Amino acid sequence: MVTMLDTLFTYLDSQSDAVIRWQGEMTARPALGPDNNGAGEEAKAAWLMEELSRLGLSDISRHDCPDSRTPCGFRPNIAARVPGKAARTLWVIGHMDVVPPGDESLWTSPPYALRVEGDYIYGRGVEDNQQAIVTAMLAADALLRCRATPDCSLGLLFVADEETGMACGLPHVLAAAPDLIGPDDMILVPDMGNREGSMIEVAEKSLAWFRITVTGKQCHASTPEQGVNSLVVASACVLELERLYRIFKNKSALFSPSWSTFVPSKKEANVENINTLPGRDVFYLDCRVLPEYSLSAVEEAVRSIAEETAARYGAGIAVELVHAEQAPAPTPERAPVVQRLIKALKKVRGLEPHICGTGGQTLAAPLRHRGFDAAVWATLMPNAHAPNECSRISATIEDAKIVLAMLFDGLEPQAL
Ligand SMILES: [Zn+2]
Repeated sequence: MVTMLDTLFTYLDSQSDAVIRWQGEMTARPALGPDNNGAGEEAKAAWLMEELSRLGLSDISRHDCPDSRTPCGFRPNIAARVPGKAARTLWVIGHMDVVPPGDESLWTSPPYALRVEGDYIYGRGVEDNQQAIVTAMLAADALLRCRATPDCSLGLLFVADEETGMACGLPHVLAAAPDLIGPDDMILVPDMGNREGSMIEVAEKSLAWFRITVTGKQCHASTPEQGVNSLVVASACVLELERLYRIFKNKSALFSPSWSTFVPSKKEANVENINTLPGRDVFYLDCRVLPEYSLSAVEEAVRSIAEETAARYGAGIAVELVHAEQAPAPTPERAPVVQRLIKALKKVRGLEPHICGTGGQTLAAPLRHRGFDAAVWATLMPNAHAPNECSRISATIEDAKIVLAMLFDGLEPQAL
């Protein structure tokens, strides 16, 4: 018996060229947020709007967020639906923005021009998070081409601003359109996963980003005794902050790594010339903390270590919390979206998935804070943010099959 799912899967197996074309079009429109010195997501969103209409999606809505830092004055958010028998919707959420390429000399081909090598495609954004967008589009296209009406509706939600704090993206959509996602809807966020697609993320660590500004005294580099070298003080601070690992030392098997992390990351430029002893240095600390710790305790510890270190050198120091997200309650394993996903993976791939937590912040956090259950899952390399970012065409197509399988109640075969 040929089932509806068989028909849909056969169609998807012929869609490699669509994956390549969509990925190429999106990669050529670098969606960097203003915090990454970019013009935002509007060029990519405009292309997506056109493509969604071309595919035959009619239920398309925009939930843009004003942002005067971009040339168009807003950050785009796109929702679209393919109706099923029930209004209950399985949402697939992807983010349109990407991170900068980083050191371009590490790329073997230009980051914003798609390179195809067999099953592998390369370019900034192809995995994070264009693979999710393409997965959702493949599933929608298959339903429309095969004239299939699944039990649940399929929702596509493509948001801005995931990589730099999220505010103009999903949280804005949830606030501006509170009825878009219904209380019984299921939410899938394909933005984290392993190569087998066997990892379902249901919990996150809390996140805190600190900006730490050291104020020393600038002078000529030939007379260091007349100044206070802010780079030396900042460096001492970076090393002293390793103490955080001992203060917040709990472990949880749900997460990998199982401990909290405290990573000095960005450092702003200081003096332009080599013969000036710097008097001001600014660096940042990225903290991912197990949910049982309060972020105010982390902030207090960072502050006291920084102040104590600066005082030792006679420098000033300011610790600012630039972004904080206390982890929400995890999505329970019994949640319908998790259960359907587990069943779909068993049925379609013969996989026994495992449930886990993550140190990366995903779009599931703002959803879980508002009481929605969300499963984070995809079949990834994974290599988000890396040079030569890469994604597999076959993994994208196989993920679209899982999305489709989840749309059918009980995952029973549907007679054609
Ligand atoms: Zn992402």
